[in-house]
Amino acid sequence: MSDCLFCSIVAGDIPATIVAECEHTIAFRDINPQAPVHILVIPRIHHPDIASLAAAEPVAAAALLTDARAIAEAEGFGHAYRLVFNTGAEAGQSVFHAHGHVLAGREFSWPPG
Ligand code: AMP
Repeated sequence: MSDCLFCSIVAGDIPATIVAECEHTIAFRDINPQAPVHILVIPRIHHPDIASLAAAEPVAAAALLTDARAIAEAEGFGHAYRLVFNTGAEAGQSVFHAHGHVLAGREFSWPPG
């Protein structure tokens, strides 16, 4: 999608600190980190949120989960990380291209604030 920020990152038109890539996903550091490790894992194809990605492209959705784990492990936190999918504006989603937040390196409370 031409007006999607994350599609522009996938296309290489907007710079990002990319930490991993595969056939289905790319992962890059969040510009406003909320933890010592804060990496976004996104599908290359555009879907507005994780629910629509999972419904339309289950292989890509599964790759996103697998890659999130591999990224946490590569950062030294395979044993303890948080994977967040904000889905919908009221749930805190601000970029409407599916993405998972891989967060690690500090303690996280439950329930989240
Ligand atoms: P969400 O609020 O769940 O939609 O998450 C969107 C995330 O994208 C936020 O954590 C932002 O800090 C992050 N973000 C926005 N623009 C960029 C960018 N250009 N590069 C990296 N992360 C970004």
